[in-house]
Amino acid sequence: MNSEAITYSLKPSDKNSDRYFEDISAFTGEILLSLEEQLSPVVTDYMNFLSQFGLEEVRTREEYLFELLSFGMFWKIYGKAACAIRRAPFLTLSKMADVRKRKPAVKPFVDIARGILFTLFLFPKNTVYNNAPDLKDVDRLCLFLESTGEFREQSFRFIRWRAFLETVPDSYWENGRDSVFKAVDSFIEKSRTSIGEYTANVESFLESSGKKYHWREDRFQCGRTREEYHLNMVGAEIMNRAFRKGYLGTGKRVLLLPGCMRRNIKDCKGLKVREGLQCMDCDSGCGINALRKKGLKENFDVFIIPHSSDLSLWAPKPGMPKRGVVAVACIPSLVEGGWELKRYDVCAQCVLLDFSGCEKHWHKNGLPTRLNIKELNRILN
Ligand code: SF4
Repeated sequence: MNSEAITYSLKPSDKNSDRYFEDISAFTGEILLSLEEQLSPVVTDYMNFLSQFGLEEVRTREEYLFELLSFGMFWKIYGKAACAIRRAPFLTLSKMADVRKRKPAVKPFVDIARGILFTLFLFPKNTVYNNAPDLKDVDRLCLFLESTGEFREQSFRFIRWRAFLETVPDSYWENGRDSVFKAVDSFIEKSRTSIGEYTANVESFLESSGKKYHWREDRFQCGRTREEYHLNMVGAEIMNRAFRKGYLGTGKRVLLLPGCMRRNIKDCKGLKVREGLQCMDCDSGCGINALRKKGLKENFDVFIIPHSSDLSLWAPKPGMPKRGVVAVACIPSLVEGGWELKRYDVCAQCVLLDFSGCEKHWHKNGLPTRLNIKELNRILN
């Protein structure tokens, strides 16, 4: 692994991350085939349920396969904590997550309180894994995920699955959950072999830095397991495929970049606008400035947006043509952001940062992050 890899790197021993994008495409194809074999009947029944009750415009099978895989994974990782919690201010935490999104000015204060409440209530000492969750356990998991603020979109989707499970006999879910957990085990094993080289530092990072994040609001974001990294890598690829057609149908394009791509954050002269920050060309060697210039030439807008900002801003406006949004982020934030944009009917695509490095969450002095230009060009066009 190169020295940029705090937890992951898309170019562990290569000059660039080209090989990663070939690997993830092949691996996603393989996983989708095996999920289809294992979970096909449940997904078909669920899609019929959604269509029959008009609960949402039915999306692609791949998205529902991925939702089921995510549910199984989250149960394995967070289910035991969710069920061990007997008392927690879930509603308050969930409201706080909402407030910090909509009111950036109060975010620092809300985050301090959230960090304390997380550690006091969401990390119980005694937990026992239960591989046979009933529907009440599913409810507990949804409540837990929503209150973290990091998994709200997943929670919204699992609540819909929960409504479907209410309509089927108990034996249906008992058999179904076994298939889901088998699919998760197989995913964990295969992903370590196929894409594990890109996440080789996650476990040592968690071991050496885990305590540093106690009492912090980014405890969930920075505490993701290696399996969650793999899940998000595949999820980003599935979303790009599923949302591609809609994106290609848009006229104007917007590129949303994370602030950690700036070379010198402290001296950044970026202009605050409603959408985030707009680059003012103060540093010719800044990674964001290079993309701003590319945008001027190729006719797309560029904005810097903070982590967990309110993405409803990008929702289509009545009477205005739909904008195609390309969002760049590090692995832990990708799927949540993609699902949120989808909920707002935004035609989005994503590009992973080659590695994470922002000062706020990952690195003592901050490491300017980068992306693969070849992949960005492929996604943009
Ligand atoms: S070049 Fe743009 S993004 Fe980079 S530091 Fe200057 S204003 Fe900020």
